[in-house]
Amino acid sequence: MSVRSALAALALLAASPAMALELRLPADCRLGEDCFLQQFPDMKKGDGAIDPFCGIATYDGHDGVDLRVLSMKDITRAVPVVAVADGEVLRGRDGVEDRLVDTPGAREAIMPRACGNGVVIAHADGLETQYCHLRRGSIVVRPGQKLKAGDKIGEVGASGLAQFPHVHLTVRLDGAEVDPLTGRKVGEDCVADPSDARPLFSPAVMAMMKPLQPEILGLGLSGSLVDYDTLVVDGPPPQATTADAVRVAWVWLANVKVGDTLRIVLDGPDGERLTDNTTKPLDRNKAIYFSYAGKKGSPVPGSYRLDVTVLRDGSPVVNRSRQITVE
Ligand SMILES: [Zn+2]
Repeated sequence: MSVRSALAALALLAASPAMALELRLPADCRLGEDCFLQQFPDMKKGDGAIDPFCGIATYDGHDGVDLRVLSMKDITRAVPVVAVADGEVLRGRDGVEDRLVDTPGAREAIMPRACGNGVVIAHADGLETQYCHLRRGSIVVRPGQKLKAGDKIGEVGASGLAQFPHVHLTVRLDGAEVDPLTGRKVGEDCVADPSDARPLFSPAVMAMMKPLQPEILGLGLSGSLVDYDTLVVDGPPPQATTADAVRVAWVWLANVKVGDTLRIVLDGPDGERLTDNTTKPLDRNKAIYFSYAGKKGSPVPGSYRLDVTVLRDGSPVVNRSRQITVE
């Protein structure tokens, strides 16, 4: 190869799309407030699962990024699903109902339409993105339509193979599925040192992501026992009032790891420590985890402070506090 052609090849490399892309999130929402990253691609070939940064936030065979809203109630908020970059709509499907898959039979039945209502967009330089589980009737684009990054495609839903309402984003480069956090092909192994990652997401998106930390989906003080199974349907329980006969400090988490412990501290209106509970170490990884500390008796009115910490190897990995006024 001549010096000139070698230089030309270098220039091509420097302009390769994997370096130049700055994808945005696939939904118009506030990460960590009204939407949450639940799962990433599985970077392990074959059985078992490992997420892009060698953590637990994935499952065997998952090929994309899941950006969720809390519950089926949030579907009615019409959270926009948006194009992650400029492009042109290739194809789409609508008409599949929004329904959480909770039995093996339901799973089997929906498999041929696992993506549910979806859209595929072609971008420059061999990049293609696919968006799944959109809300039925929400798709507002048609094949051939040109889009700018951030343009609305539809709304977050739970159509197809979905266990919680979310948008699933698959990224393909020249036909191969790629993890947008590390730039590696899906199944090509995780990145232990984050400086080795070549993200397709923008630096702003990457700065918001904390894939190795548990995510606190919600916390609060309820006046009734919380039914874990209804959380994903009805969302967080109503806040306690003085008319209630119990008070339950609760926390809802994603991606906690085997060995993690959870500390729940509740201080009452006059500063008195009402609850200080630490759970036993978790016996396995949990994609979703719910915990609470309850006590009989009507809560007195006033301002409470709830403080929740996840501890890993004895050190806090995530902490959140919330001031709660009981009336
Ligand atoms: Zn997914």
